[in-house]
Amino acid sequence: MTRFEIRRDQPLKPFTTFKVGGPARFFASAATQEDFLAALGFAREERLEIFVLGGGSNILVSDSGFPGLVIHPVPRGIAIDAAQPERVTLRVEAGETWDDVVSRAVEEKLWGIENLSHIPGQAGAAIVQNIGAYGQQISDVFQRATVMETGTGNVPTLSGGECGFGYRKSIFNSSAKGQFIILQIELSLARGGRPDLRYPDVRNYFSERGIGEPSIRQVRNAIIEIRDRKFPFPREEKGGNAGSFFKNLVLSDPQFETLRTSLCRNFSTSECDRLEEIRKHSGPGGPVKVPTAFLIEICGLKGHCEGGARVNQTQPLVLLNDGGATARDVLALAGFVRRTVYARTGMEISLEPEMVGFTPEELKKYLTLQ
Ligand SMILES: Cc1cc2nc3c(=O)[nH]c(=O)nc-3n(C[C@H](O)[C@H](O)[C@H](O)COP(=O)(O)OP(=O)(O)OC[C@H]3O[C@@H](n4cnc5c(N)ncnc54)[C@H](O)[C@@H]3O)c2cc1C
Repeated sequence: MTRFEIRRDQPLKPFTTFKVGGPARFFASAATQEDFLAALGFAREERLEIFVLGGGSNILVSDSGFPGLVIHPVPRGIAIDAAQPERVTLRVEAGETWDDVVSRAVEEKLWGIENLSHIPGQAGAAIVQNIGAYGQQISDVFQRATVMETGTGNVPTLSGGECGFGYRKSIFNSSAKGQFIILQIELSLARGGRPDLRYPDVRNYFSERGIGEPSIRQVRNAIIEIRDRKFPFPREEKGGNAGSFFKNLVLSDPQFETLRTSLCRNFSTSECDRLEEIRKHSGPGGPVKVPTAFLIEICGLKGHCEGGARVNQTQPLVLLNDGGATARDVLALAGFVRRTVYARTGMEISLEPEMVGFTPEELKKYLTLQ
């Protein structure tokens, strides 16, 4: 087990999938509840801001780093409670690597998270933005979380309702941001299940291969292959990314009309037709989910570069560090994409990763729309 210690000036770059950013003034890896309490006590005494760092796959760290204490949960294991006949509870410590959890579930033939294969990061962080992919999201199988209140050190459990899950949203990244450290999550998975082939990419993958009812292992392998084709899974080699840098748009009818009007004015009929197709796929009633990648693509931004940062060609929601990118390059690129999309479509697109260690002035300078 890692001995609890607080280090100074720890470079954060290697702890992020973007491989960008400066050092943390203080850094503590934490395994036990005592470690988390000790870290919180240190931050209180030294009057430091804290940041909980998981796998660093949904953040962009500023070039000057983080001036407070970074607390980093470390892996401690997965426990399986198989007392019920049809469903099995997976009790997962926050520091576990999420994809190891999926891999273990698939090995045990437990259904419910196989489409969430190959999403980087830790299990605790997975509920922060309610990770989702290919028709599944973690809130579908979530039972409860054990959390530590950062203000008091108390350790309550929270139900799904209390976590306030939505699209890429929970209380942990909105109303209660910074108030809890997630220590453990419990997921309820099904012993028997059917593949979720709602997404065309997944459906086509199997129909092209003549496979009608794929096994859970085949589903996981397919998802990994499909994802790898779209953008690089951050590995140890040079460069990096933080997955989708922008959120998709969820538009009410009037907002959709605004977008339609801009597109028909500023683009050709083929782009307007594609937008109508998107509306049709969304089904009748309710908001329309418009892929932000579509807007970035029609604005001609694929491959656009600022310094060492580039808009990915195959999935333009992703911004890439080509090797030597600084956080400023990435922010400058994100700002350029936001302004161009706004000017040509009237849509304000928001960032998915959290910006860590930036001043409000820096964020305003780079990300402002006007
Ligand atoms: C290649 C790639 C593909 C991706 N694909 C997807 C995808 O398909 N779907 C999707 O939803 N996301 C995707 N992501 C985004 C990202 O992987 C997820 O959001 C992931 O859950 C982040 O986990 P992390 O451990 O890296 O969190 P970090 O980036 O370390 O932190 C993210 C946030 O969670 C907080 N946090 C972390 N751990 C804890 C904790 N224990 N307690 C309290 N707060 C905590 C942090 O403070 C921060 O606010 C992708 C990212 C990459 C790089």
